[in-house]
Amino acid sequence: MYWEKELEVLDRKNLEKLQVERLMATLRQAVNSQYYGKIPEINKAIKSGIHSIEQVRELPFTTKEDLRGDFPWGFLAVDKREVVRLHSSSGTTGNPTVVYHNRHDLDSWANLMARSLFAAGVRDTDVFQNMAGYGLFTGGLGFQYGVEKLGCLSIPAGAGNSLRQIKLMRDYGTTVAHAIPSYLGRLFDVFKEEGLDPRKDTKLHTLVIGAEPHTEEHRLRIQEMFGVKAYNSFGLSEMNGPGVAFECTEQNGLHIWEDAYVVEIIDPVTLQPVTDGEIGELVMTTLDRRAMPVIRYRTRDLTRFLPGECKCGRTHRRLDRIAGRSDDMFIMKGCNVFPMQIEGVLMKLPEVGDDYRIMLETIDDQDEMIVEVEVKKDWFKGDLSVLDRLQKHITHLIRDEVLVRPLIKLVEPGSIPKTEGKAVRVFDHRKK
Ligand code: ADP
Ligand code: ZN
Repeated sequence: MYWEKELEVLDRKNLEKLQVERLMATLRQAVNSQYYGKIPEINKAIKSGIHSIEQVRELPFTTKEDLRGDFPWGFLAVDKREVVRLHSSSGTTGNPTVVYHNRHDLDSWANLMARSLFAAGVRDTDVFQNMAGYGLFTGGLGFQYGVEKLGCLSIPAGAGNSLRQIKLMRDYGTTVAHAIPSYLGRLFDVFKEEGLDPRKDTKLHTLVIGAEPHTEEHRLRIQEMFGVKAYNSFGLSEMNGPGVAFECTEQNGLHIWEDAYVVEIIDPVTLQPVTDGEIGELVMTTLDRRAMPVIRYRTRDLTRFLPGECKCGRTHRRLDRIAGRSDDMFIMKGCNVFPMQIEGVLMKLPEVGDDYRIMLETIDDQDEMIVEVEVKKDWFKGDLSVLDRLQKHITHLIRDEVLVRPLIKLVEPGSIPKTEGKAVRVFDHRKK
């Protein structure tokens, strides 16, 4: 079952043909903007034509700094009158990155979103509760319009206020909900505090989780807690937001919609394509956006293409879950460490709760990695020798995984301060 069969199962040859046509149209549109209008490679490609999709590699990359640098209008490729919405990041570290949409763009985005949800088994008979923040964050409105296009009964609940979320779920019989994964552990705790079990006391059968890195172990926990299937949703505001890549009901990687994007994975050092199946940085070009086309955007997200065809019949390639962002990586005692490696270890342990954070400190002129780990209530109350053993066990497991010996601090459930929105996992207080 497909949302748009002709496009979703299109054979690779015709899919690439469509990409080439759309790439040419995108370049012609892009040069209307101040930024791309000045770029010789793009003007040259328009003159000589694009004949195969590999030729995208002749075009220059666009980085987050480029987007910030030409703030606020440099990337706009249509008349301002035509623009009907913008989304932007918060801009705490400089100019925000802003993305503009005209009516066509919003319609195309809503359609990709509906296609994605349909692939994950969501139907118009479902009641869909969106627990993402509405506003400039794309997880709110992005899902909203997709869910409406699909025809579900939508509940635009917004983020937070767990008691109200639970009440909405129970009052209206929510069957599918969307949230960032780091929120769901907290929501589950509130269910428990209220004497409720989401497995028995709601009609939920599906959760859609995304917007931040999480491990397979974390997904399995969420599925177990809520008694649902949890589907991975990937997107970024520069490429619209959610609806870029999504798991189908096979749950074996995220189909990335190649009629809407040219997708490359490059070695972030050499900037050359990695060999198929290797991990590298995801680079994306929009193929169906008019107000603000973006060419070869360096996402900084690390992933790889998964080999083989998907049983669902969709021909769009699948990405492995995002291993992290290149800028999430930190160097500790000469070793490269990704927070997700640590999460993978922690989430496998039944004693460990849902929250953790990594503090990098300089203690007596030595750099140390302190991992604070919330332990579930029953275990935390247990006797000290149990906690002592658990602490040693985690120390060994993490050292084996990242090759750095951590200092493990076991803490009570709920004691790690929560961040608004996406979880922040690493705090670097080292003396430089
Ligand atoms: P910000 O860069 O401010 O977080 P966005 O809201 O556009 O802005 O977030 C996009 C980023 O979120 C992606 O580039 C990626 O790093 C992360 N992300 C989104 N979805 C997922 C996912 N399913 N798994 C891992 N990371 C994700
Ligand atoms: Zn599939």
